Amino acid sequence: MRPNALTPLFASMQSLSGIGPRLILLLRKCVNLPAGVSEPRVLDLLWHLPTGVIDRRAEPKVAEAVPGSIATLKVRVLKHKAPPRGKSRAPYKVLTEDESGRLELVFFHAERKFIERQLPIGEERYVSGRVERYADHLQMSHPDYIVAPEARDDLPLLEPVYPLTAGLSGKIVQKATRQAVDHLPEVAEWQEAAWLKARGWPAFADALKRLHKPVDAGDVSPGGPPWQRLAYDELLAGQLALALVRQSFKNRPGRVVKGDGRIRAAIADALPFALTGSQRTAMQEIEADMNAPRRMLRLLQGDVGSGKTVVALLAMAIAVEAGAQAAFMAPTEVLARQHLETIAPLAETAGLRIGLLTGREKGKIRQELLTRLAAGEIDILIGTHALFQADVIFKDLAFAVIDEQHRFGVHQRLSLQSKGNGSGTDVLVMTATPIPRTLVMTHYGDLDVSRLNEKPPGRKPIVTKKIPTDAIEKLIDRLRVQLAEGAQVYWVCPLIESSELSELAAAEERHAHLSQIFGKENVGLLHGAMADKAKDAAMEAFAEGNLKILVATTVIEVGVNVPNANIMVIEHAERFGLAQLHQLRGRVGRGSRESFCMLLYKAPLGETAKQRLEMMEASEDGFLIAEKDLELRGGGEVLGARQSGMPEFRMAGVPNFEELLGAARDDARLVLANDPKLSGARGEALKTLLYLFDCDEAVRLFRAA
Ligand code: ADP
Ligand code: MG
Repeated sequence: MRPNALTPLFASMQSLSGIGPRLILLLRKCVNLPAGVSEPRVLDLLWHLPTGVIDRRAEPKVAEAVPGSIATLKVRVLKHKAPPRGKSRAPYKVLTEDESGRLELVFFHAERKFIERQLPIGEERYVSGRVERYADHLQMSHPDYIVAPEARDDLPLLEPVYPLTAGLSGKIVQKATRQAVDHLPEVAEWQEAAWLKARGWPAFADALKRLHKPVDAGDVSPGGPPWQRLAYDELLAGQLALALVRQSFKNRPGRVVKGDGRIRAAIADALPFALTGSQRTAMQEIEADMNAPRRMLRLLQGDVGSGKTVVALLAMAIAVEAGAQAAFMAPTEVLARQHLETIAPLAETAGLRIGLLTGREKGKIRQELLTRLAAGEIDILIGTHALFQADVIFKDLAFAVIDEQHRFGVHQRLSLQSKGNGSGTDVLVMTATPIPRTLVMTHYGDLDVSRLNEKPPGRKPIVTKKIPTDAIEKLIDRLRVQLAEGAQVYWVCPLIESSELSELAAAEERHAHLSQIFGKENVGLLHGAMADKAKDAAMEAFAEGNLKILVATTVIEVGVNVPNANIMVIEHAERFGLAQLHQLRGRVGRGSRESFCMLLYKAPLGETAKQRLEMMEASEDGFLIAEKDLELRGGGEVLGARQSGMPEFRMAGVPNFEELLGAARDDARLVLANDPKLSGARGEALKTLLYLFDCDEAVRLFRAA
């Protein structure tokens, strides 16, 4: 059970004053919710970390204020100057002074009543904001803070700056995070005293307080003690959770799953190609795991298009040959359906019975499916998160494949496993995100790893070029030629951070624009807000070649397979992370046609963005790109985690990530070696840590063991 003291942190954010349903919607967009959590909690605000501070500590006299800098000034209000009649666009000005000089406060589109209330004539006020020189005098337009002398403490002299989203102000987020910090309970220390002392790290609650209510500019830096402490906490929680999972795996026996090869042979016969060397090796590794009387937990890493699906199918066939069932879980509905389409014809030839279960299968159809599943009349169940639902019961689940696993948490991985008959379901996790070796450990623990590092034969290189947006007309001319030759184009629209709406608008606009040029009937649109049916229809029309161009938001990011599509255009490529660019590019180059990836960017390019795009031009090797990504980002923010959906470290960006990770790994091992049941004093405290970082599934597992 979760310690009672933590209850206020796990309450909905709506329990905070001033946070209602409307703000929740906005906050949900900018806080980082862990997998499986849909309702933002107070806890999630604690991990919504400032990206910097505004320093308002300078309190000069007016005459000494430095133009261009942020300052807090104590002034007396002299006079209000409303805009002249008929000139309502002119600013409303308020003249103020101190003994050294005068400062004009300037308000555009201001509400007169508000200003009169805030700045009564003759009274003293603290105003804080950027001081500017205008003509011959000093001014401050729209002060960030205006407070009466007696309310001076409300003015944050070091103001944390948070990631925001359109419609959400920094002040609201500040107010919310401050409340969250005030909800922090007393918790027993889980770090060793000597270690904290050696590092000069504060206690857990102090660290959070200093991040959200900084007293020193260094408090908010990833290299500073509060951030470092919390980064280490997070890494330790993660490493401990993985170690617990590992321990429980070791403690529970698996089952021997042996097939006679008959279904695999039938599938191989139906395949229009031979397996690559690395596909064969991966199959051997998987088969050996399944044959062994222990649980399998293996990661299959392979670039987009490297042929993971076939490997998954053959592996599932082993389970069916052994008389059991298999499950195949995809991160999205589109993908689940695509897997079904790829697998169904092969499976049919081989006599396999396939079912599909997503959020869309409902009512009678769903019920029928579940009945057949429980009776063992379905051999392979393909689906989405819907497979986790409690009433989904297999007759005998021996093997589960989780595709593009970075979309799921450890937590969900484990719950799929618990659908086996207690005898240990083997699990194969597939990821197209090439994770550098140093980081596999962080995300997956000591998993066994198979890598598909060769592309299926016959693939041509994808010519990648970065092009400034100004040259879009030229690009369109080239597309004309290409389309006449039968090409098909994905056109990915800008990723606009923090505003789904404008992302959508951009896609719709581009769709309209291209429709005008290439004809309505040739250009399709695909975005996340579309109804499922419309999504499928668009995807299908594109897959069948009825659409020449598919304009899409990043919903097409993962796994969609249209071999004839050979051109990928990415708008505002400078806004994407390397991992995501690489994933997107992987949508093309699957057929026999020469393929292109056009990275449209808005000049001027920042240094990092430039390096990213140049890396894309230079290489198609996912593992190499991942290493470069790591180098460009620093260890914390792994692989554009936010964008690619990888489990993200909340304490991103620590400069000494790998060092802390190594220490946390050793620490976790030592803890479990000395106290495998976490029953000592430190063990108990560490359980609290696990809850705080949503690793509680590990605790549950550990209890069950
Ligand atoms: P991934 O899931 O790794 O992105 P897929 O399994 O979807 O890749 O495979 C991409 C494409 O390559 C599919 O059309 C698949 O049929 C084809 N393919 C897979 N293995 C081979 C192979 N050994 N030789 C030729 N084509 C292959
Ligand atoms: Mg795939």
